[in-house]
Amino acid sequence: MNGKGRVYIIGAGPGDGGLLTIKAAECIRKADVLVYDRLIGRKVISYAREDAELVYVGKMPESHPVPQDVINRILLEKALEGKAVARIKGGDPFVFGRGGEEAEFLRENGVEYEIVPGVTSAISVPAYAGIPVTHRDCCSSLHIITGHEKSGTEGGRLDYSALAKLEGTLVFLMGVKNLHSITENLIRHGKAADTPAAVIENGTTAMQRLAVGTIENICRKAAELGINSPAVTVVGKTAALAAKLKWFPHGPLAGKRIVVTRTRGQAGKLSELIGEKGGEAIELPAIKIREPEDFTAFDNALDNLARYKWVVFTSGNGVEAFLNRMKRIGADIRMLYGIKLCAVGPSTADRLIEAGLRPDFVPESYTTGELLKGVRRLAGPGERVLLARADIAGAELSEGLRECGIEFDELAVYRTSTDSRSRDEALELFGNGRVDCITFTSSSTVRGFIDLLGRDRLELAKGARVVCIGPVTADAARKLGMRVDAIADEYTIEGLVKKLVEVLEVM
Ligand code: SAH
Repeated sequence: MNGKGRVYIIGAGPGDGGLLTIKAAECIRKADVLVYDRLIGRKVISYAREDAELVYVGKMPESHPVPQDVINRILLEKALEGKAVARIKGGDPFVFGRGGEEAEFLRENGVEYEIVPGVTSAISVPAYAGIPVTHRDCCSSLHIITGHEKSGTEGGRLDYSALAKLEGTLVFLMGVKNLHSITENLIRHGKAADTPAAVIENGTTAMQRLAVGTIENICRKAAELGINSPAVTVVGKTAALAAKLKWFPHGPLAGKRIVVTRTRGQAGKLSELIGEKGGEAIELPAIKIREPEDFTAFDNALDNLARYKWVVFTSGNGVEAFLNRMKRIGADIRMLYGIKLCAVGPSTADRLIEAGLRPDFVPESYTTGELLKGVRRLAGPGERVLLARADIAGAELSEGLRECGIEFDELAVYRTSTDSRSRDEALELFGNGRVDCITFTSSSTVRGFIDLLGRDRLELAKGARVVCIGPVTADAARKLGMRVDAIADEYTIEGLVKKLVEVLEVM
C-alpha cells in the first residue's frame, strides 16, 4: 500500500440495505479494510472489494463487545499502514454511535478522516412502522434521547421533569431494558398517562415487530410480545398513527429471513428479488471465485480455439472467466466464429446472451445426463469439445464424455474456494439469530457453506428450510448430509424465488 491512510466513518443505516447512501457505498467500494459493527446489514458488506480485509468488531457469540480502545487501535494501525479504512456503524455515526470519539482519537493521532452520515434509526425505524416523527397537526419538535441512562433519581443525567414537559415527539434509543423506568418517570413528572407510545424492534428488517399503546401500558404490551433490543421507543401523539399508517413488512415473503450463499458479486439479483417479495435476504457468501493461479493452459486453449468444434460452459462464472481472459489477452470475440457453444442451463445461457453470444445448445432439463445426451447427439465424429469449468468440478461430465468416445479437453477457467471471511458471521447468525431458509445456487455454495459453519455444527442450521436451484445442487447437498426441502421447478434465480414463496408463504 502506498499513500496516506484515511478513515471513512460511515453510517450504514438501520438495517434495510437499501437505506445505505450512495456515498457510503462508494467509500466501502474503495476501502482496503472494513471495520464493522453488529447490526450492519450484510448487504452493506457486499459493496466491499473481493480483496478487502473484513474486521468484525461486533459482539461475538457468548462474549462481550470489542472495547472502544481496541477498535481505535485497529483504525489507527490500518490507517498508518496507508490503507483506506471504512469504519461502518449502524444508523448515523454521530447519533449515539461513538463516531465523535473515534474522530477525536484520529485527529489526535494525525489521521485524516471523512464522516459519511447515515439514515438514523431514530427517524427511519418509526417511519417503517408508519410513525412520522413530526406532524403539523400535533407536534413541533423532535427529541432523540438515550434510554440507556438511569433516571435522574438514580444518578443519571436525564432530567425527566424537563422531558415530561416537552410537547414534541420523544424518541428513545437503547431503552428496551429501561422501558419501565422511562415510562414511569415520564408519568411521575407529569406526562399524561394516555400519551401514545410505540416500541419498534428490529425496524426496517424482516424481523420488525411493533407494539403500540400509551405510556401507561406500553411496557406490558412490549413484554407480552417479548420485544427486545434493538428497539426504538416513540412517545407522543404521532405514535398513535402507527395503527393507521403501518405499511411494512408486506409481500408473500414478509418477515422471512433467507440466507443467500452466492458470491458477494453475484448475490445482488437474488437478494433484490427476495426484497421485492418482502423478505430479508441475508448475504452470507459461502464461496469466492478467483482466477486460475497459472494461465498457461488457459492461454494455450485460447490460442488453439480453432481445434474445437464445441465449447461447453457449466456455469455463468465459467462464461465470465472465459470472456474476461479473452479480453485480457487482447483476443476478439470473432475468434469464436464457427465454434458451437453449449450452456448447461438457462442462467449460464443468459450470461452468453448478455455478451452477444447465442448458445447453440441448452439442455431442456439440467442434469449431467441430459447435457451428455445433447452433446453426443450434436457433436459429430472427431469433433473436439472444450469443457470450460471450475477447478473443483465433479468428474461426472468428463467421465460421461469419455464413455461416449467424445474427444475433449478440460480447462479450469476459475477457482472456487470457501469465503472464510463469512465464518464469524455464519456462527453468529446460526448461533444466535433466526433463519427461515437457506438457498443454494450451486454445488460449490453447498460445500462452501458446510465448510463455513463446520461439519460438526450443521445442527445449528437444522431449523431452516433448504431450497436449491436445481437437482444437481440438491444432490450435492444431500450427499453432504443436508436435508433438502424443495428444488426450484425452473432452474433459474427467478425460479428459485418462486419456490421460496411456495415453501415459505404457508409457514
Ligand atoms: N447510530 C445509531 C444508533 C446507535 S445506538 C443510529 O443512528 O441509528 C443503538 C440503538 O439504536 C439501539 O439500541 C436501538 O435503540 C436503535 N436501533 C438501531 N437499529 C435499530 C433497528 N433496526 N430497529 C430498532 N432500533 C434500532
